[in-house]
Formats: sequence, C-alpha cells, structure tokens
Amino acid sequence: MSIRLHSEGGAGEVTGSRHVLTVDGARCLIDCGAFQGKREVAEAKNRALVPDPESLASVILTHAHFDHCGMLPLLSKRGYRGNYYATPATRDLAGVVMMDSAAIQARDAEYLGKQAARKGERFDWKPLYAEEDVVKAMGQFVTVSYNRPLPIGDGMRMEFFDAGHILGSAICRMSARDRSGREVTIGFTGDLGRKGKPIIRDPDHIPPVDYLVLEATYGDRLHESSVDALERLATVVRETAARGGKIIIPAFAIERTQELVYYLHTLLDEGRIPDLPIYVDSPMAINATSIFQIHPECYDEETHAAFIRHHQNPFGFNALHFSSSVAESKRINDIQGPAVIISADGMCEAGRIQHHLMHNIQDARNTILIVGYMAANTLGRRLRDREPEVRIHGDFFKVRARIEEINAFSAHADYGETWDWVSHLDLSRLKKAFLVHGEPEGLRHLESHLLSKGVAAVQVVKYGEVYEL
Ligand SMILES: [Zn+2]
Repeated sequence: MSIRLHSEGGAGEVTGSRHVLTVDGARCLIDCGAFQGKREVAEAKNRALVPDPESLASVILTHAHFDHCGMLPLLSKRGYRGNYYATPATRDLAGVVMMDSAAIQARDAEYLGKQAARKGERFDWKPLYAEEDVVKAMGQFVTVSYNRPLPIGDGMRMEFFDAGHILGSAICRMSARDRSGREVTIGFTGDLGRKGKPIIRDPDHIPPVDYLVLEATYGDRLHESSVDALERLATVVRETAARGGKIIIPAFAIERTQELVYYLHTLLDEGRIPDLPIYVDSPMAINATSIFQIHPECYDEETHAAFIRHHQNPFGFNALHFSSSVAESKRINDIQGPAVIISADGMCEAGRIQHHLMHNIQDARNTILIVGYMAANTLGRRLRDREPEVRIHGDFFKVRARIEEINAFSAHADYGETWDWVSHLDLSRLKKAFLVHGEPEGLRHLESHLLSKGVAAVQVVKYGEVYEL
C-alpha cells in the first residue's frame, strides 16, 4: 500500500516535464513533455521515455506547450493505449504542436540524410515519431472541462482548474486512495500563470491539498508590471521605427504571439506606435490563432466583451499580416523600412525566427526583443546574455542589433505571484510543496521563500528520486 511521486523530467530544469504519481503500483503520468536544449542531450532524454509505457494506467496533460505535451505521440507509438486527459482547448492546441513537431522531425531527417549522403557518411537518425503517431495520440484524448471532477480508475480522481498560463491550461488536483483506504490529495500546478493577462482568465484558487507539485521557472525573479511593459513595448517599437529598423520578436506560436498581437493592436488603436506593418511569420501561430477563436469558454471578461458582444476580432486587424507559406516568409526579407516581425520558435532554437535573425542581427538599426523565458544552452539565451557573436545554421554572426528584454509578458508567475497563489491554499493542511520546472537558483530561492512564509516543508525534486506521500 503506497502512494508515491517521482519525476522523470522537469526536475532541476525547465524542460521535459514528466511527473509520475504511483498508487499501489498503478502509474499516472502528469505531462509528457519534450526536452529542449543541446541537441544530443535533448535527443537522448527524449528517447529515454518513461519506461514501459504499455503499463501506464493514465496520462494527464496540463497544457499544450511542447515541453509538456511533446512526447505523447512517442508514448502512443511505444504501445500506450490508455487515455490522455486534457481540457478541450489543450487537446486542440496540442494537436497543432505535435503535428508541427512531427513535420519538423521529418524535414530534419531528410535534410541531415542528404547532407550525410553527400559526404558519404552513414546516417541512421530517425525521427522520434511521425504524423501517424500524432493521429494515434489524438484518438486517445478524453477532454475534461474545468471544474468537472472525474474518477480515472486505480483509486485516482482528477479535477482541472484554470491555470491562467495559456489557453486551456490547467492545474490538476488529484485524489489518490490506496488499498488501505488512505487518501491524499495532490495539486499539480503545471505551469502557473498570472493575473491580468490578456485573453485568458486569472489562475483559479484550488480547494485544500496535502501536497503540491509547484513550478519554479521564475523562483528567483520578480516581473515588472504589465502597465510599464506596454509602455516599454511602445518605446521599443517607436525608437526602432525612428531608426528605420525592424523589431524582431521570437515568440512561442501559442499564447505569446496572440498576446503580442493583442498588445500591438491596442497600441496602434491608441496611437502610441506608428502605423507600421506587423508580420506573424509562423504557420503554427496561424493554426493556433484559429483555435483561440473557437474556444470562447477560456476567455476573460474583456475578450468576451470584444469578441462576443462587439464582434471585434482581437486576433486580426488591418496592419497585421500572417504568412504561412515559405515564399511569403521569404518576401518579408525584402521589406524596406520599419516593421514588426513575430516568429517562432520562442527560444530561437528552430524555425523561421532563425532566418529572420540571420537577416537582421548584423544591422544596428534593428532590435531583437526578448519577451519570454530563454532556457540555458539555447540561441535565445545567448542573445539575452548579449554574447557579441552567435552561431546560426553553422555560420557566425556579429550581434549588432540592439537586444531588449521585457519580462512582464511572461506567462509564468514570478515568486511573489507564486506565493500569493500558494497563500490561498489551506496551509495547515499542506504537508509539503515539491518544486519542479526550475533552474537551480530559482528552485533554491523559491524553497527558502516558501519556508520563510510558513509552508511546512519544501522539497526540491531530484530527477528519478522517489517520494513517499
Ligand atoms: Zn507552459
């Protein structure tokens, strides 16, 4: 008779979230994300998936970011036949994310294979999964709306609460009962969002839990206020436009892109930035935007008002151009004069953003605007750290464009906001908080912050270490 917790990813790092709750031997996996970062390391970790997927009892997906959903198709490919529990919006967005990944992997395999053949080298790299595995995975989803408690077998019950992180994102509250009848409740925050974000609602407060598995991305940082951030965005756009430069914004195709479009729309309407073209150059962002439009159940009041009552479209306006084809994307390079270019991947590790960086990074009139978290060992992190020269697609580029950073658009709570959310829990009931999804400094800082505020016990989760609940 036992209830246990361990992590096979997202422990001591911010990528590859995979947490396992085991009740009397039945395993429930919470998130099955992809590792990102150094190619060989990430690749090895992604192949070393949760052992023996066939024997998993159930899988819960908190939200559709790649580092949380990216390896579900590999689970299906390796024989998992059970359910993937997720909110309806998460299911739809995850479909786009996983399909995109399958397509990128197929392209990479083809490209690298050709390169190896040219050099007469052996090549046996295979994609982790293909589109057919994504189709298989999509057929295994069971969608569960917020606040609809559901028994999922093996002594476990689950309920989703709005995490306020991205469209459809959920905090999962689980109850686990072992054979002796002992019951514990565990809250998995997934990625914890913030109050006052556009489009989506604020994070829900959840009923009491005995244990909490809490993310710590910004465990040692405080964000600037979003009112200041909007003005800073306006300033960056105005100043760059005055120099005749372009503003290049690496952004995740989901949420961050729609949010930036929403903010730029607001600034244009209020006349706070000049009338310049805004390009969203990411096929995935275009697909994701159409999913935003069909999930009004996830909107906050303002978006409801704009979208439903006044029939405005917060995701589209005259100055905005979406480019889905490669030819359209290439045409953006020929544009003379100021423009905003939003493109993915958000950490600059892949995708069209790399081409926009190659074209614009050496021109001092331009600005590269960083608006999201940049994990260690990514190109985005090297730009954020203002390295004078960076390598893209094997070539070196001098960084002459200005680098600006606005953290307030973050979709993750900072440590102050995290504590504010935790403080609404019944602390006399909370036995321990397990910290995941953070880098070492953030984890250490959040640990001491929570202890100083009166949380009974805090454990920084170590990869593979098993904790008895
Ligand atoms: Zn996330």
